[in-house]
Amino acid sequence: MLVSAKEMLTKAKEGHYAVGQFNINNLEWTKAVLLTAEELKSPVILGVSEGAGKYMCGYKTVVGMVNGMLESLKITVPVALHLDHGSYDGCLACIDAGFSSVMFDGSHYSIEENIAKTTELIKITREKGMSLEAEVGSIGGEEDGVIGMGECADPDECKMIADLGVTMLAAGIGNIHGKYPENWAGLSFETLDAIQKKTGAMPLVLHGGTGIPADMIKKAISLGVSKINVNTECQLSFAAATRKYIEEGKDLVGKGFDPRKLLAPGFEAIKATVKEKMELFGSVGKA
Ligand SMILES: [Zn+2]
Repeated sequence: MLVSAKEMLTKAKEGHYAVGQFNINNLEWTKAVLLTAEELKSPVILGVSEGAGKYMCGYKTVVGMVNGMLESLKITVPVALHLDHGSYDGCLACIDAGFSSVMFDGSHYSIEENIAKTTELIKITREKGMSLEAEVGSIGGEEDGVIGMGECADPDECKMIADLGVTMLAAGIGNIHGKYPENWAGLSFETLDAIQKKTGAMPLVLHGGTGIPADMIKKAISLGVSKINVNTECQLSFAAATRKYIEEGKDLVGKGFDPRKLLAPGFEAIKATVKEKMELFGSVGKA
């Protein structure tokens, strides 16, 4: 059964580790993440962007697929199904479809409007026992065609949103979605430290986990980051493994064209990436 992310993230914050959010794109992706979490006894959050939700034929299809897998793969670790960067209407649709967690990305609104909409969603998600992630300060890079420059959130605005009663808070600290550019300035630990001091026990979320050096990840966890989002890195490893299979001509040998064979190297590559991240984040054995 899907669970809210609240308990797993409270434990992570107390235990000084982070739970990975791995974005899913299809059946192979979902199966790879769930099986790895179960093998490593790690809690896990499945992230679904609005674009990926549409691609997978709607949120209800996603809920049906994930719930089916939890049963047929006999998954025992805590799993949250979470809308990533949701609009207000997207959050309502996922709540209705049976997600266990949503992120409302109100970072492009004024702080007043972000607060008003977040407050509404807190009321609704609480009634359903779901977790809610809010965002302050936009996160750089490209997400579903929108490019933002990684800015740093205002710690006072973070406190205002945290005090409303959200479950977890994403705050921009110079992080970027997708691949990091050569001239990236790195994470602002000064900002992160100031945010943690103002928000106390609130689990903080680090978006754009692809390509942040391991030492920066560890330092971010030590400063209160309890959830780290990984998306692009699984896509890159899936694509590289699939390319290798085709380039080696394996699809032309015997029944190498069978999708169960063709997609297998990519599936294994996602598993390896998820394992590497769970080990780095410290969530192995915490389920
Ligand atoms: Zn994000």
